[in-house]
Amino acid sequence: MYKSQMLINARPVASLSGKVDIIYNPANREPVAEVSVGSRQDARMALEAAKKAFPAWSRTSCQKRAELLHAAADIVRERSEMIARLLTLEQGKPLKNARAEIFSSADVLDYYAEEGTRNIGEWITSPHSRSIVLRQPIGVAALITPWNFPVDLLAWKVGPALAAGCTFVAKPPSQTPLAATEFVRAVSDAGLPAGAANVVHGPGSEVGAELVENPISRKIAFTGETKTGRWIMAHAAMHIKRVSLELGGQSPFIVCQDADLEAAAAACSQRAFSNMGQICISVNRIYVAEEVAEEFTAKLVKRAEGLKIGNGLESDVDLGPMFSEGQREKTREHVKDAIEKGAELISGGLEPEGDAYEKGYFFRPTVLGRADHSMRVMREETFGPVAPVMKFKTVDEAINLANDTEYGLAAYIFTNDLKTALCAAEGLEAGGIGVNVNNVVELQAPFGGWKQSGLGRELGHYGLEAYLETKHIRLGL
Ligand code: NAD
Repeated sequence: MYKSQMLINARPVASLSGKVDIIYNPANREPVAEVSVGSRQDARMALEAAKKAFPAWSRTSCQKRAELLHAAADIVRERSEMIARLLTLEQGKPLKNARAEIFSSADVLDYYAEEGTRNIGEWITSPHSRSIVLRQPIGVAALITPWNFPVDLLAWKVGPALAAGCTFVAKPPSQTPLAATEFVRAVSDAGLPAGAANVVHGPGSEVGAELVENPISRKIAFTGETKTGRWIMAHAAMHIKRVSLELGGQSPFIVCQDADLEAAAAACSQRAFSNMGQICISVNRIYVAEEVAEEFTAKLVKRAEGLKIGNGLESDVDLGPMFSEGQREKTREHVKDAIEKGAELISGGLEPEGDAYEKGYFFRPTVLGRADHSMRVMREETFGPVAPVMKFKTVDEAINLANDTEYGLAAYIFTNDLKTALCAAEGLEAGGIGVNVNNVVELQAPFGGWKQSGLGRELGHYGLEAYLETKHIRLGL
């Protein structure tokens, strides 16, 4: 069986306690790997290693750091097939999506290699002095990530942290540590100084908590649930640490009367069901102009029913299993709650039948009609493949409904009218607005949430700034 150890000081290490855990494939519940499980003590060792490596790495020229980050991207690409297979085996997503995730994470390293070389300062002229403004690396960063995109979301942190001159300790999710650890190993193998890139495994409540609470870490970059983000923010406050929080979402998708319904249905289906709805920017609530609701819903159902479900290692599969029985049970509960409150089950709503689906956590893409805001699917993060449709009369009404949530990560609108698009984009309360597109991730643009969906931004130059402190040097004349 594949064995996954932690990475401290550029060496694979077992946990001090010797404890191991087994990772199971969500498609068939077969064992995939044995993984070392760390504790607070292992986390402290990794933090010490990162602290020791920081002075030299922070003083390394940005050109040298860029060279190493490009080399790291190349190694990730060379090992992409091995890392992608591990990702499919531990998380369930189809291999084609896993491959895309690994290639995208290599692109992130290339992007920040260059972005790091653009960290230039300022020169300010005053009557009796001159001022130099420097942007310097914060220090040791703790990078804590979730199971739905364990490699890409880590790359969003590793790239800018290293480019800025920070060293780091990454804590991948306990349930999916394999591909993320291989990703960091590939980065480390590019020739980084020992201790610059470390990985510890283990429970968030122990290993994650140590990374947050230990004064060695000066920056916490976290992606995960809003309730974990709240805990991290509160505990990081003890040392006034810098935090970036990418948290939960409940994203609305508005379809106006004048929209291209075929394009809207295709975009909606893809963003509601891919990765089995386990994406922070998944479409969770669909608001459709009443005049076109029936036609749009029929197109959406056709798309949902055309998706092929199966083991992610099979070549022509669109959707793998859900990640865990817990996720599937929550999805069932949300669907049941909606139906009890008056929703119409139009498609899906249960597991697919057949031997191939017997052991895995499979669930059919589900379309609900007559949805309203009393239902949990319209208020909570289901994190499952459910698309509830609600009709609206005016675009203003749709925007108000879209904003009626504590979350604010992404929002989408499909319309062919420029004024409607711009007014809606300005009125929607979210960090990313998709107009006639179903994705708000763009490597060069900021990504992050409003309200309880997060704090700070990743990607673009914003992502780099999150790892830099500002210093003013005043020179008297
Ligand atoms: P989670 O919050 O349970 O866990 C995320 C990570 O935090 C894991 O590595 C976990 O071990 C660790 N952790 C848990 N408790 C901790 C603590 N007390 N201190 C430090 N670390 C701790 O989230 P999850 O279930 O793995 O992921 C799903 C969630 O992530 C969803 O809510 C989803 O919306 C969110 N998410 C957000 C984004 C975004 O960019 N906004 C992207 C992907 C996922």
